[in-house]
Amino acid sequence: MLSQNQNPKLLAVMAHPDDAEILIGGTLLHLKTSGWKLGIVTMTTGDCGSATLSKEEISRVRGAEARAAASYLGAWYDCAGLPDNEVFANATNIRQVVELIRRFDPHVVITHSPIDYMVDHEETARLARSAAFASAMVLYQTGTPEPANPGRATPALYYCDPVEGNSPMGERVWPQFYIDITETIEQKRELLSFHRSQRDWLRAHHGIDQYLEQMTAWAAKYGKECGVNHAEGFRQHLGHGYPGEKILQQSLKDHVKVRAKKTKNI
Ligand SMILES: [Zn+2]
Repeated sequence: MLSQNQNPKLLAVMAHPDDAEILIGGTLLHLKTSGWKLGIVTMTTGDCGSATLSKEEISRVRGAEARAAASYLGAWYDCAGLPDNEVFANATNIRQVVELIRRFDPHVVITHSPIDYMVDHEETARLARSAAFASAMVLYQTGTPEPANPGRATPALYYCDPVEGNSPMGERVWPQFYIDITETIEQKRELLSFHRSQRDWLRAHHGIDQYLEQMTAWAAKYGKECGVNHAEGFRQHLGHGYPGEKILQQSLKDHVKVRAKKTKNI
């Protein structure tokens, strides 16, 4: 629950260093303009995201890129330090994510779709769901030296669209609502450009600027579904014990869209 005179805080809990920018960057830019305090945590440093550099080198490069992108958003950034392809919702990792959530103490947590193309994303969603629930439990202890205080309350939990908007079976995972990012798409492209290692890798591989063009094409696809040029889709976790208050939708009400019509997979 938000109180007056309080800047609302949103923490994006994502798997890899560029996921927040690709999947919810346009919405984060809207939130920044609306006065939200933003945070991004990633589960990994993206240590498998190169065909030429060592794990240590690419981790360093991608960590710097993630911090630069977060800085562009005015966002706090931290990383859980798990290896790519080995993100799992086990007790050790839940404690670590609880600690990260408690340190930022958000009103809203956004994470991946529970159904997504990659297990790292799905497990991050499970981690965020468990950790958000446990974060305000006074008796839940993380075992960290100098632990953060338990949260004020369970944060509202939202899921973004899966990558490409589809389940691993190729079916659209329909969002409950969209955020129109037509106004922020150019800035979103700038934001994503901070991940130069990934952009260059794909550009060398495909011969075109696949990284930015693919993201823009996905945003255009979601935009088409709700009758605007570019959009990002979201679902709110409404299970027992999580806030049902539509914090994000109310804060961004000028940009909220619904599905234009029943459409088949595009
Ligand atoms: Zn990812």
